[in-house]
Amino acid sequence: LKHVIVLGDGMADYPIEALGHQTPLMYAHKPNMDFMAQYGTQGTVKTVPDSLLPGSDVANLSVLGYDPVTHYTGRSPLEAMSIGISMKETDLAIRCNLVTLSDEETYSHKTLIDYCADEISTDEAKELIAFLNDTMPPSSLKLYAGKSYRHCAIWDHGSSEIHTTPPHDIIGQKIQTYLPRESPSAILLQRMRDAHKLLADHPINLQRIQKGLLPANGIWFWGEGKKPILPPFTEVHGKKGSMISAVDLLNGIAICSGLDVIQVAGATGNLHTNYLGKAKAALEALESGQDFVYLHVEAPDECGHRGEMENKITSIERIDTLLGFLLQNLRHREDFKIMVLPDHYTPLSLRTHTRDPVPFVSYQKSKHAPSGLKTYDESTARKTGIHIEPGHALIQKFFHA
Ligand SMILES: [Zn+2]
Repeated sequence: LKHVIVLGDGMADYPIEALGHQTPLMYAHKPNMDFMAQYGTQGTVKTVPDSLLPGSDVANLSVLGYDPVTHYTGRSPLEAMSIGISMKETDLAIRCNLVTLSDEETYSHKTLIDYCADEISTDEAKELIAFLNDTMPPSSLKLYAGKSYRHCAIWDHGSSEIHTTPPHDIIGQKIQTYLPRESPSAILLQRMRDAHKLLADHPINLQRIQKGLLPANGIWFWGEGKKPILPPFTEVHGKKGSMISAVDLLNGIAICSGLDVIQVAGATGNLHTNYLGKAKAALEALESGQDFVYLHVEAPDECGHRGEMENKITSIERIDTLLGFLLQNLRHREDFKIMVLPDHYTPLSLRTHTRDPVPFVSYQKSKHAPSGLKTYDESTARKTGIHIEPGHALIQKFFHA
């Protein structure tokens, strides 16, 4: 029996007046999700425990069957794994953003102008990170280049007794109150100061300024954590699985859990991602012997953060088309099971994640029977009275119920 999970990141939302008090999921034309609702099972699932922040990291761990309360160690270590860094258990991974700082003479008087240095290109960023590694004095802290502004520092025997602040939360603010200040983090502060001195007049930044772009004249550490230990997915569930996602974080979770990572050309993480390419890759993985595919689409979450209602609806409709392609091509099989859900809400009205229980719908060919429900959406899912908590219990039911 083949299993597929299609995860629409941040797809769930609240009713919106401009949509006649419907949610984007209610408003979107999505015949395939509705088909699953009509002949499958629907309910809600609590993917984010109350003790943790509602992030994609925590929520996707839950959906994959890992209790985030025990297994979540921070965002950066998951990203580090996806960059291909093999962490030691004594390492601390720290997200290192390339940022733009203002021009005040004294470091601590500066303002954080941009958390992503105008979304600096990966090529430019790689050169800057290599330059910093080469010029900064040797220490227990080493930088690794990721994509665009998102990089990683590995701190050998690093202390997790530090406090850092996500730079996207302090745009336009003076950095002074947000700098790491506990004594174990002195090396981090020193690195941030050194990096600014070295980067300010680097040729790449001088070119960027000439082109009217913000310079990447600073680094900012946050999101630290130790290496996560996830029991292998195959051992826990007895299934060989693949991950299809454009996002480092999801691929990092896959690597930690022993899922096979499939890279799809043109998978971008935004509205223009290669939906059909992802669906084809999923089918190929199943044909070639995988039991399970986790197909993650980032687009609805991005649209939610940007407050783009039309685009959020479009992204849901495209996920539905992808789903239709999957259903169409799996139909000839004796049996298969598929589930659609978001990891968390990203309401357009809030432009950030919430920890509300999310709606899920699952469909199994051999159990095709009218449910009496018409559509898949937040309100219908709540009305079924089926609620799964904690969220990591969901996948067990999906595989074995
Ligand atoms: Zn998410």
